[in-house]
Parts: sequence; structure tokens; C-alpha cells
Amino acid sequence: MKKILRTSETHPLTWWLNENQDVVWIKEYKKKGGYLAFEKAIKSIAPSEIIKIVKDSELRGRGGAGFYTGVKWSLMSTDENINIRYLLCNADEMEPGTYKDKFLMEKIPHQLIEGILISSLALRVSRSYIFLRGEYIRAENILRQAISEAKKYGYIGNNVFGSNLSFEIFLHSGAGRYICGEETALINSLEGRRANPRFKPPFPASVGVWGKPTCINNVETLSNIPPIILNGVQWYKNLSKSLDTGTKIMGFSGKVKNPGLWELPFGITAREILEDYAGGMNDGLTLKAWQPGGASTEFLTYEHIDIPMDFSSVSRAGSRLGTALAMAVDNTVNMVSLVRNIEEFFSRESCGWCTPCRDGLPWIVFILRDLEKFKGHKDDVKLLEELCYRLGPGKTFCAHAPGAIAPLRSAIKYFRQEFDSCLESSQIINIKFIKGVQPNNKI
Ligand code: SF4
Repeated sequence: MKKILRTSETHPLTWWLNENQDVVWIKEYKKKGGYLAFEKAIKSIAPSEIIKIVKDSELRGRGGAGFYTGVKWSLMSTDENINIRYLLCNADEMEPGTYKDKFLMEKIPHQLIEGILISSLALRVSRSYIFLRGEYIRAENILRQAISEAKKYGYIGNNVFGSNLSFEIFLHSGAGRYICGEETALINSLEGRRANPRFKPPFPASVGVWGKPTCINNVETLSNIPPIILNGVQWYKNLSKSLDTGTKIMGFSGKVKNPGLWELPFGITAREILEDYAGGMNDGLTLKAWQPGGASTEFLTYEHIDIPMDFSSVSRAGSRLGTALAMAVDNTVNMVSLVRNIEEFFSRESCGWCTPCRDGLPWIVFILRDLEKFKGHKDDVKLLEELCYRLGPGKTFCAHAPGAIAPLRSAIKYFRQEFDSCLESSQIINIKFIKGVQPNNKI
């Protein structure tokens, strides 16, 4: 397995870490140059210039959708009569198989805080919120301590660096619903309302939390801001091997020898991550399928293992880069069973706002459960395909349902024989079924 040598030139997000990956508290962070980017920005760069730098850097959102951050920032209302704007950090990381934001918050909390402060400066925001996944108790404790350190050192508070500007960061722990990762559901939840997505337009950049212009960025996205400001656009672009700029926290989980996550350049191939960093599949197993970036991304197969990990290459292969934390499926796993387990999760996490998703996902689960017990009806696979169409893009209120059916649709596409083999009259394929069920599943 490859050993990573982290330097500030090559690994801007993770070079702060020591061998043991201890938390980087403020003393060490400052000693290594932390908060210099914020100081540089507040003392010598105009807010509009910061937005231009981020736009030029072509930084794409790291939450999964990959929208260009600078473009998103430039959509924020600049109306001088609006004196309140908000920045929300989306830390509601609930995509199964993904824990990169948790890692960044628990290990290098000040990088995120510095990113929030520079972004607040650019967006002319004085109050920011970190909307944190409820189960991330350790991250919560670390962030609370880091925020209080930043206050003590004068980075948060009034008249920061004698600028007459004030910055406040609030930490809000969510109640643990997947849909809160959708930015307008996050806004509703933060306001104390039912966490369902809002109708758009108006977009949050004009009417967001408490009716004010609001920008929502992911933890990893914001953590990229300080190195871009400190080292410049060209340096940032040169980090990548592909058209997508910078580095990305990527990983592999499943039955691999060394599951984990690593900061890697865009454009590295999935094979390199699997073999050089994750150590390959466990002895005796082969790779049958993989999801590039979370449970809501389409399955790819071994044939796709040499694709570069970047937004457009993965999309061309028929999936999404998503969070870039890939999950390997080995040759012993039955796809019907695996997909049933995934769909139970998505069915439970539907917010219930629109009918196709609220009723369609549990229906998919019932059919898959029957197939798993070899009680499937002869038309069940066709019906599953019909449901994939009915819950597809543009047919539901938000992207939850299209994301939920992506693994099912792709599993049928590549492994139809396994679905057909679960019909009453078929020959059963002798591969293992998943025993686990999703907790608290009442359907
Ligand atoms: S698609 Fe699902 S999660 Fe999204 S609004 Fe409709 S019911 Fe809610």
C-alpha cells in the first residue's frame, strides 16, 4: 500500500495532521500558518475580489452535487439595503458510506472555521451556522472547543483585526434526518420547522433562512477556501490531474484490505485508490460492483475501475462522483439483497412530502423483500423498472427519490439475472444474501 507523504504544497486539506492524526488545536494550527489566509483576506482583499478568486479557482462543491462555489457565491443578493445575510455550513453528513466531513471536523476543526470566516467576509455575512448531523457527538464537542479557542484568539467576535467587522459562528446539532442535507430542508429544520424541501424559486441566495439571503456550503468545500486564498488560483488548479481543480477526500470501504479515506488529486483512477491505498479486495474475493460516492450513486462494475475519479468522467461512465467515498461490493454478495438494504434506508428517510417518493419507496422495499424470499411475482422486475421511471428525475419534489432509485436501476441494468433468479419459477443463484436490516424500519 502506498504511504502518503503529506505536504502543504500537495495536500492542502490534511497536511496539518501528524502520524497519529491527533486533533490540530489552535496553537498548532497557528504555528503551521493557520489563520494567515483569513488575516490576508480581511486586511488586503475586497469581498468581491475573494469571490472572483474562488470563482477563478473553479472549486466545485464537495457535498455531492459539484456546483461551482464561486458561481453560487455570486448569486447572493448584493442589495445594500439588506443588512443581514447568512452562511450555513452543511455538516449534516448522512450519506451511507461517507464520513469525510466528520474526519475534517474532528481532526482539523480550525481549517473549517477559517474557511467559514473568509467566506463570511466575501459574502458580507456576520452570522454563520454549522448545521451538524445529530449523531456526530465527538465532532460537536471538538467544534465547540475550537470555536471557543477562535473566540479567545480574536478571530470570532467584534472588530476582528481592527476591521470594524464582527463574526459569529453558531453550532446547531440536527435531529438526524437524511433530508436535512438538502439545503432548503436544512433551512426549514434550522428555523424549527418540519424538515421538508422548499419550493424553488425563490432560491436561498435571495430568500433563505429567516427570509434573508443565505449561502449553503459543505464542510469540505469551506475547508478548501483558506489554501486557495493563501496560495492562489494557479497553484490550486495544478494540484489536480483532471479538469476538476484541487484535491478531494476520497476513499474505499467494503471488503477491502485497508478501508479508509485519503486526500487525493482529482483524476486519480478508481483502481489506483482501490489497489494502492485500500490494498485491494480481501483475499479470496473479487470486485463485482462499486458505488463511486455514496449509497445514492449508481453502481458501476469492474469494467469501470480504470475511470478517473472526477465529476465528468464518472458521469460519462453512468454514475455520479457524489462524495467520492466509494463502496466495493464483492463477488459473494447478492445484489437484490444489497439493494433491498439500501432502499430500506432511503424509504425510511423520505420526508413524506410528495406521493411518488413517500409511497413508491416503501413499495420498492416490499417487492425487494418478496424477491429476497423467492416469493417474487413474474412481473416484479418490470414493476421495479416502472417505479424507477416514476420516481426518476423531475417527477418528485426534490432529488431524494431520484437518488434513492439510482442504485436499484443500475443494479437491474448490470445484474438483472440476479433479480430474475428470485422469481418463483427461476433457478436460484447461489450467492450470499445480506442479513442486516435497517434499524427502526417500521414499514
Ligand atoms: S422526493 Fe421524497 S424527500 Fe423529496 S420532497 Fe418528495 S417525499 Fe420529500
